[in-house]
Amino acid sequence: VNRLIGELAKLPGIGQRTAQRLAFHILSVSDEEALPLADAIRDVKEQVGQCEVCFNLAVEATCRICQDGRREGALICVVEQPSDVIPIERTGEFQGRYHVLGGALSPIDGVDPEDLHIAELLERVSSNGVREVVVATNATTTGEATALYLADAVRERAQEVAVTRLASGLPVGSDLEYADEVTLGNALRGRHTL
Ligand SMILES: [Zn+2]
Repeated sequence: VNRLIGELAKLPGIGQRTAQRLAFHILSVSDEEALPLADAIRDVKEQVGQCEVCFNLAVEATCRICQDGRREGALICVVEQPSDVIPIERTGEFQGRYHVLGGALSPIDGVDPEDLHIAELLERVSSNGVREVVVATNATTTGEATALYLADAVRERAQEVAVTRLASGLPVGSDLEYADEVTLGNALRGRHTL
């Protein structure tokens, strides 16, 4: 039991007390309820790898999205992590393909362009009739720095390819008076005609 608590406590956002509560919950339920968790952990670790085209999660050599012939090959959305693909897919607004960088540029932390899948992106951009690269890195200092770097790099490699950035603005359902000035400033700059 201590081993289970110790393992659970290593998970992000799970403290010692929560780990204890989860461990005792797992102890209290039936085998049929508890073991699928162990199986799921084993399966993802054994079966899930990286797509060799876009570096999204994949069970085969390429991911589900790269295999889907209905997805627009001329449009590539660049994200930092595989987990960023999920919220964009959930919007149902994006019909193109993805490219997962594996992080964001951060010289302070020793993350340079060659540590990310940037060379592979430039390769895709210059060879496959790509029209637009949508940069959907995080709206953080490192995400913004990465976006600017990519814009330059793509332009240098393939002038005809448009590089766009996700608009940032006000969260839906929120009041103007509670927005921070950076968000509101971005929303003002990114305004569009009604
Ligand atoms: Zn892929």
